[in-house]
Amino acid sequence: MFTYSTRVSLESALQEVRNQNGTIGFVPTMGALHEGHLSLVQKASNECDAVVVSIYVNPTQFNNQEDFLKYPNTLEKDLELLSEFPKIKVFVPSSDEVYPKDDSYEPIDLGQLDLILEGKYRPGHFQGVVHVVRNLLQIVNPHLAYFGLKDFQQLAVIRKFSILNGDETQIIPCETLRDSSGLALSSRNLRLSEKEKVDSLIIYQTLLKIKEWRLLHSPEEVKQMAIDFFNDGALKLEYLEIIDGTHFVTLKDQWTTNGVCCIAAYCGEVRLIDNMYCE
Ligand code: AMP
Repeated sequence: MFTYSTRVSLESALQEVRNQNGTIGFVPTMGALHEGHLSLVQKASNECDAVVVSIYVNPTQFNNQEDFLKYPNTLEKDLELLSEFPKIKVFVPSSDEVYPKDDSYEPIDLGQLDLILEGKYRPGHFQGVVHVVRNLLQIVNPHLAYFGLKDFQQLAVIRKFSILNGDETQIIPCETLRDSSGLALSSRNLRLSEKEKVDSLIIYQTLLKIKEWRLLHSPEEVKQMAIDFFNDGALKLEYLEIIDGTHFVTLKDQWTTNGVCCIAAYCGEVRLIDNMYCE
């Protein structure tokens, strides 16, 4: 397995694949890899001739400096986990490489996506995400790029950027991986104690309840029932919204075929997000 830290060295390593018209897949990550990330890497490995996995903790998408500083860094273990996969090229760039001096990025209008859920509670977050993804896509120039549905709104933002930018990379959505108790895998789980992991199950339990209640109640009613249920647990709710997953508008009286419940909550100082289709 090889690691690369510059655009030039990565590109020369990919040259042979390009010369043979091979398919290049890309899995951008912020490291502290877990099985959720690895499920994306596995999917990309199955579908592509070469896979670039980037590990870069992007400062511009953290609206909270402390969250950035506390973001876990487990590079050595990450490389060990990735060494199990063939075809992988790991890109571990510096900030100068990701954000060169002649960077010409202009913020894009994300419309409604910047106004609700993560957009509302983490101002500037998605502009940071789009900026880093745009720059990484320019560096890697992959045929396919893999993103998790765990970050449901992020995926929508990236799709929107891709359309607005006329980007040719195909965006591939990937299912959320959970542990056996239902907790969505996240790098931030490394900061949870065993008790906090149990407390955090309230997120998954609430999402399951919503699927049950949706059969008999309107989205607005279900939302209130879900908030009451959630608040009996130990986490501090930031938002719980039932939205249409295509248009990102709150559902009130009627369910649509694409209803999604999105939750963000704090377990102590750790911010967790999760979502589920309400089918
Ligand atoms: P991150 O390192 O948190 O930026 O995540 C890198 C990629 O992995 C993103 O596309 C995430 O949506 C995806 N991801 C994170 N957690 C999971 C999970 N539990 N299951 C599947 N994909 C995930």
